[in-house]
Amino acid sequence: MKIAIASGKGGTGKSTVAANLAWTLARSRDVVLVDCDVEEPNLHLFFPAEATDVPVTAPVPEIDYTRCNFCGECGEFCRFGALAVVKDSVLTFPYLCHSCGGCALVCPQGAIREVPRTIGRVSCSRPLPRLVLISGILNEGEVLAPTVIGAAKMFAEGHPFILYDASPGIACPVIETLEGADYCILVTESTPFGLHDLRLAAGVAEELGIPAGVVINRSDGQDEETVAFCREHGLPILMTIPFSREIAAIQNRGGLISRDLAGWEERFAALSDAISGVSP
Ligand code: SF4
Ligand code: SF4
Repeated sequence: MKIAIASGKGGTGKSTVAANLAWTLARSRDVVLVDCDVEEPNLHLFFPAEATDVPVTAPVPEIDYTRCNFCGECGEFCRFGALAVVKDSVLTFPYLCHSCGGCALVCPQGAIREVPRTIGRVSCSRPLPRLVLISGILNEGEVLAPTVIGAAKMFAEGHPFILYDASPGIACPVIETLEGADYCILVTESTPFGLHDLRLAAGVAEELGIPAGVVINRSDGQDEETVAFCREHGLPILMTIPFSREIAAIQNRGGLISRDLAGWEERFAALSDAISGVSP
């Protein structure tokens, strides 16, 4: 089973929910937790452990000047501005390259070959006897977040129980994360902004055909609009986490309420049961 944890915006507590759920599940079964928030991975802060890193590469063009006649076709083709043909040189800007391979295809001289370039890494650790943490990490300034996410997901592939922690928002990295998930937990908070972004995230899950449910975080007890939205769209409310100084203090020091606060392991276990009950 593959469960994605997503949110329409940052700061809702998505990673906190993912970490607490992973910790609870790992008490009784083997779990792989994949940090797909590759531009800002932070699950390792909840689960510090020695990790092994594997580089992630993407193909970029290399010019063979013994063949190139500076016709300019590759520069005209590249819509990302990663190639520019000047008088007697082809300038390449690897940081802008999206590794589409198109320039090599259109080059009439066969003067472009693709070479691997490191854009990030996948970091693997086992912080608990029954928990494996896989973190995708995109190098600063790189654009191919989906490639690193795909690599991190590939490391987990084949495992019977996987949690994906998505990046905030609804852009390509989130689509890449949700792809193939059996269920999506949407984490929101009871504010107008929270509801606005929940609508967007719920729309993405619906578009991808992934069943979803909602966790309301930092609830101030005035969740009527969120509840009404969920009812209208057939989204079960799986859990409500109240706004509480005690919870905030645990989370601020990198703790887990499922582990450090009485009663919350049971609530996260109930969250897992609720998902098992509604997912295929
Ligand atoms: S398309 Fe090929 S031959 Fe033309 S400028 Fe680019 S690398 Fe050179
Ligand atoms: S591989 Fe695609 S994105 Fe990269 S330089 Fe070539 S055409 Fe541009």
